[in-house]
Amino acid sequence: MARAFPKKPASQLNATVVDYAEKTAGNQAYIPEIIKGLGVSMSHFFKNTKEMLRGSRPDPVTERLEDGITTISYPEQKRPYPDRFRGVHRLTTRDDGSVRCVACLCCSTACPAQCISIQAGEYPEGDKRRGYEKYPVKFVIDELRCIFCGYCVEACPCDAIRMDTGVHAVPYDSRDQFIYDKDILLSFKNKDGQKKSENPRHEPGDPSFPGVTRLGDHH
Ligand code: SF4
Ligand code: SF4
Repeated sequence: MARAFPKKPASQLNATVVDYAEKTAGNQAYIPEIIKGLGVSMSHFFKNTKEMLRGSRPDPVTERLEDGITTISYPEQKRPYPDRFRGVHRLTTRDDGSVRCVACLCCSTACPAQCISIQAGEYPEGDKRRGYEKYPVKFVIDELRCIFCGYCVEACPCDAIRMDTGVHAVPYDSRDQFIYDKDILLSFKNKDGQKKSENPRHEPGDPSFPGVTRLGDHH
């Protein structure tokens, strides 16, 4: 049953109470407001047309707010995203093309939207990474639930997940198309067309690897 909250008088609320506008024949007809709105649209139309004919349209990237905001023909024309723009996620790879993620679950733990699901697996016998780290058998992000906060990227100790694709989530017509699995996440590249991450990494088994063995011996 819905809980009823006691109502306070307006004078005790920290809020501005806006009265309804008085109903007059003028504002009920809406005609003056329609004319005002059409006036704004037409002034932009003529301004844009004049600038287009003269070739003097301001650069939509560098124009100042007071110059107005130039209409661009999206998606043929796109405004560049800022360098720190958080696009859809990608999983980064190592030199051998394998996934960098070690399935530690830090990202899914940090995710406030609980939209990351990971199933960890052990590397097979004979793989030099077996015993050091795991890998994600499944790695799924529900991009529809994601709030693009970037916490998963911050939480990752391996630089294995990034949001530097420069791609924003595209609209789909069904919910399951927003479920990005490991293959989809691995297929994305960064803005420079790279799949790797920026940070060098010591691999288990290589002499410079600073980790410890499963028995606790320093490697
Ligand atoms: S960006 Fe935020 S909400 Fe989206 S998957 Fe990462 S932690 Fe979760
Ligand atoms: S992406 Fe990073 S934080 Fe998430 S499970 Fe993989 S290694 Fe851990």
